[in-house]
Amino acid sequence: MEIFPTLQGEGYYQGHASTFIRLAGCNVACVWCDVKESWDEKKFPLMNVESILNKVKSYTSKIVVITGGEPLLQNCDLLTKELQKAGYQCHVETSGTTKLSGTWQWITFSPKKFKNPIDSFCQLAHELKIVINHPSDFEWAEGFAKKVSKECKLFLQPEWEKSSMITPQIIEYIKKNPQWALSLQIHKFVNIP
Ligand code: SF4
Repeated sequence: MEIFPTLQGEGYYQGHASTFIRLAGCNVACVWCDVKESWDEKKFPLMNVESILNKVKSYTSKIVVITGGEPLLQNCDLLTKELQKAGYQCHVETSGTTKLSGTWQWITFSPKKFKNPIDSFCQLAHELKIVINHPSDFEWAEGFAKKVSKECKLFLQPEWEKSSMITPQIIEYIKKNPQWALSLQIHKFVNIP
């Protein structure tokens, strides 16, 4: 769908320069999705790995974030292999609803209530990022936190449209449950993609 240089706005690498590769197509359909235009992969042209790599090389960051849509609907083996051969650090942001492909330095696992993830992503995740849209989501988040590895970073992130109502609840929750940290979509605050 698009390739662009920006700062990672969410999670552990928040604020770090990154090149984003957004792959089109999503099998989850979250009602609050902020990139609904990514859902229909037929709207976007196919690109080969060489063209993607050339575009990535035109930017300076050594961190490449492959996101979507749901990026793992496409096989990422060759793309990550070639990116890593060229010295890039590959990160993926996935709902964990489809089989893992690719080799990754960082896996952001962000399960959604709209489609159950595959359990094995809990053990693969370097960070667990749960979007909080409703107070009942805290308990749902804890279910995943119990299953991830000890090293996995835990993030709660307000759903953007509900942010003014839900962020104070997240802050209170994190004060009582300090294993979690707050992830804000800082790219939206500073108006970058
Ligand atoms: Fe949107 Fe991501 Fe949900 Fe897909 S998984 S609908 S891209 S928020």
